[in-house]
Amino acid sequence: VILATGGCGLVYGRSTMSMVCTGSAVSRVYQAGAAYGNGEFIQVHPTAIPGADKLRLMSESARGEGGRVWVPRTPQDTRDPRTIPEAERFYFLEERYPKYMNLVPRDIATREIFDICTTDGLSVEKDRLCVYLDLTHIPKETLDRKLGGILDIYEKFQGVDPRTTPMKIFPAVHYSMGGLWVDYERSPTGGMLEGSPRNQQTSLPGLYAIGECDYQYHGANRLGANSLLSCIFSGLFCAAGVQASAGAKRAPAAESLYAAALRREEERHEALIQRRGGGENPYGIHHELGDLMTRVATVVRRNDQLAAAYDEVCALEERWRRCSLSDTGNWTNQNVVFTKSLGDMFPLAKLILKGALLRDECRGAHYKPDFEMPGIAATDPEGKRREAEEWCDRFEANTNKWLKSTIANHGADGHPQITYEDIDTSLIPPRPRLYGLVGGEVIEEVWRERLRAREVNGGQVATREVGVGAQS
Ligand SMILES: Cc1cc2nc3c(=O)[nH]c(=O)nc-3n(C[C@H](O)[C@H](O)[C@H](O)COP(=O)(O)OP(=O)(O)OC[C@H]3O[C@@H](n4cnc5c(N)ncnc54)[C@H](O)[C@@H]3O)c2cc1C
Repeated sequence: VILATGGCGLVYGRSTMSMVCTGSAVSRVYQAGAAYGNGEFIQVHPTAIPGADKLRLMSESARGEGGRVWVPRTPQDTRDPRTIPEAERFYFLEERYPKYMNLVPRDIATREIFDICTTDGLSVEKDRLCVYLDLTHIPKETLDRKLGGILDIYEKFQGVDPRTTPMKIFPAVHYSMGGLWVDYERSPTGGMLEGSPRNQQTSLPGLYAIGECDYQYHGANRLGANSLLSCIFSGLFCAAGVQASAGAKRAPAAESLYAAALRREEERHEALIQRRGGGENPYGIHHELGDLMTRVATVVRRNDQLAAAYDEVCALEERWRRCSLSDTGNWTNQNVVFTKSLGDMFPLAKLILKGALLRDECRGAHYKPDFEMPGIAATDPEGKRREAEEWCDRFEANTNKWLKSTIANHGADGHPQITYEDIDTSLIPPRPRLYGLVGGEVIEEVWRERLRAREVNGGQVATREVGVGAQS
């Protein structure tokens, strides 16, 4: 069996993902014993069109073609944005990241947009967080030729022409880097051994996962456009392995196994349809789940909030058990399908929260300000150098501790059991990520020196002891 059932955006209520992305199929096999990897790594896209029903993507190509992100320097300036003079506009990505400007990576643009609205209070609107994404300086013919499709989407849903008026955008949940843990067989050169039946196989023998529903390729932070690549790659490599193993002799599963599973599902279905008087509304519970997850497990994460949210999700799951349906028929009953899917969202929500709670660091889309590594404060060359050495020590210690995949297994008590698995970095060794960090150039210099020393010493980097807690 090969699962290719996509991401789990609906766990967050509203996202850019399709409304079928409930994560239900993946959750079912997780509950049946398949391991889940890197659940806490959820990508939030910086530029989405806020909407009451769902959040629609405003593609990165808008910034790629020269789109500029800004807010008025006066909070909630009520003037038409087209009349606000340049000097009164804050192009915060351009000012803060002069090297990359509006093309900083997704997680950084997302955090900056979130921050400018929440911390700096400069959201364009008071009651709805958003910033301007401005294309109006680009000739209309160019926009129509290069971005016509996405601009039409904006115009259709917002009733405003983005060719003449800056768009209003805000970050939205977009992609699940995590998913079902899948195996691979390493080739002698460090790649994937073509044709191996282990490739893309989950921890349940004979069950494979490909595409967004696996955890394999994007670590903590998917790069734009890499998903379709990983879908194609995982499909290609999975197919060859499955084909190779298809001829292998296996005892056919007993017919009674299928019959028992079918009966179990039918009974479950009937019980849900027949349930009376529970009084809980599945759509209301989903709304609460989405709001909670969006509030605590997206752009900024804090341990006290994650721990409290975990308990709240457990309470919502209890309430879900008391849902009664308004539609009790058996003909195209969307109510029952949705209620079942909702039940499957809780195990995923719990592993996302637990993984995020335990991972005390910042990595890619997972950002915990309490564990952020600050830049260099010293101003004299000697002090800068000392702090850069300390920074690199801490980076190495953190890498040793946390450059690992999070593996969740569904416990008999319904809670995820979390362990960690080493990552093979032999082809691309880890290095500091220094976007916009004060003193980044000194850190870079120290890091390069260490790499050179490592080459000379045959792989050993001399580091000072840095105290880190035991691995959890
Ligand atoms: C708006 C948007 C724009 C994007 N743009 C890009 C881009 O430009 N480049 C890029 O690389 N990536 C992009 N991505 C990401 C990329 O599109 C997705 O990651 C990718 O499509 C996932 O493919 P998939 O086949 O794994 O899953 P999906 O395309 O989500 O397909 C999953 C399928 O499984 C079905 N399914 C789900 N559950 C069940 C079930 N229980 N039973 C039966 N069937 C089920 C669904 O109906 C669906 O047909 C974008 C994503 C979004 C949301």
